Amino acid sequence: MSALHTPNSRAYVHLACGSTTIVSEGDFTAICDPFRFISGTFCVNCGTHFPLKQFVWADTNEVIADARERWAKEAPPAVRSLNSGVGCWVAFALGAAVGAGVGWSVGNGAMKAVGIGAGVGALVLPIIWLGIIAPTISKSVFGWDPRLLK
Ligand SMILES: [Zn+2]
Repeated sequence: MSALHTPNSRAYVHLACGSTTIVSEGDFTAICDPFRFISGTFCVNCGTHFPLKQFVWADTNEVIADARERWAKEAPPAVRSLNSGVGCWVAFALGAAVGAGVGWSVGNGAMKAVGIGAGVGALVLPIIWLGIIAPTISKSVFGWDPRLLK
């Protein structure tokens, strides 16, 4: 699997209007990653977003929402645990701990700063985890690239 053969775009059809939209770059990576939360996608013809249930991949005719569910189930166990429940909770706890530590040092030990730091860390780290860290590990360590899923 060389990077040359990794697709960077794919076409989908909006069932309601029958128009084809090509998704590429970051949006393509996001829509291909079944562990990334996406509520809907864009139709160029309609000019707005609709739920993934209303779109099918142009080449396979599979509903995008169904395809993503299948991809999540078919992902290697290591990738699944990295991206779901456990991984996210680890990131959550780690973020809270790091945030509390930062709050402690910035706020000179004031409990309020520790609480704010913990809250921010608990929110921010899972986002970074799911958006950057988990996909990077999935790809580099396990060779799992969502863009190759069909
Ligand atoms: Zn449309």
